[in-house]
Amino acid sequence: MKLQEYQAKDILRRYGAPVQEGKVATTPEEVEQIAKEFGTTVVIKAQVLVGGRGKAGGIKLASTPEEARQKAEKILGMDIKGLAVKKVLVAKAVDIADESYLGLILDRTSKKIVMMASPEGGVDIEEVARNTPEKIFKIYIDPFLGLQTYAARYLMSKLYDKSEYIAQGIELAKKLYQIFVENDAQLVEVNPLVITEQGDMVCVDAKIILDDNGLFRHPEMEQLRNVEEYSQEELEAKEAGLSFVKLTGDIGCVVNGAGLAMATMDLVKHYGGEPANFLDVGGSSRPEKVIKALDIITRDPNVKVILFNIFGGITRCDDIANGLVQAIKEFKPSVPIIARLTGTNEQEGRKILEQANIPVFSSMDEVVKEAVKLAQSS
Ligand code: GDP
Ligand code: MN
Repeated sequence: MKLQEYQAKDILRRYGAPVQEGKVATTPEEVEQIAKEFGTTVVIKAQVLVGGRGKAGGIKLASTPEEARQKAEKILGMDIKGLAVKKVLVAKAVDIADESYLGLILDRTSKKIVMMASPEGGVDIEEVARNTPEKIFKIYIDPFLGLQTYAARYLMSKLYDKSEYIAQGIELAKKLYQIFVENDAQLVEVNPLVITEQGDMVCVDAKIILDDNGLFRHPEMEQLRNVEEYSQEELEAKEAGLSFVKLTGDIGCVVNGAGLAMATMDLVKHYGGEPANFLDVGGSSRPEKVIKALDIITRDPNVKVILFNIFGGITRCDDIANGLVQAIKEFKPSVPIIARLTGTNEQEGRKILEQANIPVFSSMDEVVKEAVKLAQSS
């Protein structure tokens, strides 16, 4: 789950990290009001879940409330990488003397949290990694020992000469590590980490991604979820208890169980087709789930054929078949639907589908070959 900058900064603040004072606004008038209240130069920042907002024109400084309103008018309603800007963060601007990068991610290879620092702050870290990888410094953190002071000192010594900044940086690094671990994050990043002209250390930008699999341990975080992160289809699927990922091909897939769904997609690829989606209707599939699945898939104009691949265990094939027949009545899909049923109540399910003139197969190979053929010939 990705957090907006202002949400990430609220967390940083709670842990005592140095963050500029700021408030969220949704209208230019509110922005003007906040600027008036702050009485300083402000920075107006588009709140969208992508990086590179600065380059896209989504971050602007304003020295008067009037100017703040004008700039906010431009930013609100702007489109950044396909995302509409509906909220801005208005923060007290800082005078930047130095920009660095400090971030934590989970490294799957070493199975450890990695802390990275770079004196090349303010720019995309991927760009630094490509052009000047020698300017990124890393430490792999032992999960039992946690972030050791000497390790944090090593990183900070790559960013700063002054012992005062090194000491402050070590404190900040420990707080970021604590945020990462205590909230089950996948990423915690401060870019740029700034030293101001006045000599203060400030986290000017913050990014946090939480691990969805850890969210049940932090139910209070659920309210931070940003609907913009998901497509309408993904939200509806989540609501209905389906796991759905949209892909770019033309073969719609409805499968029960994540493993079978992956295997089905592999087989579609194997026979030269392209799946339009990953969709797992889950274990005990009530007919309503099948109806919702078909509702979502038939909205995709790329879909040329819909393939049901059901392995009846807890899921009963007749439940799926009934759902499918009902769904067809409701949505009258214009593309062919074919199915493979095997397992619990297979015969009952088969009969229901045959009566509805839906071709049923019992081998996975056959049904996938047929789906690829139908997609290619339409
Ligand atoms: P991003 O482009 O989405 O990563 O957004 P950032 O919050 O990192 O801002 C991008 C750039 O805008 C920073 O690297 C700074 O150069 C500049 N910027 C952001 N906030 C301030 C500020 O308070 N004062 C000044 N002078 N520049 C800022
Ligand atoms: Mn940034």
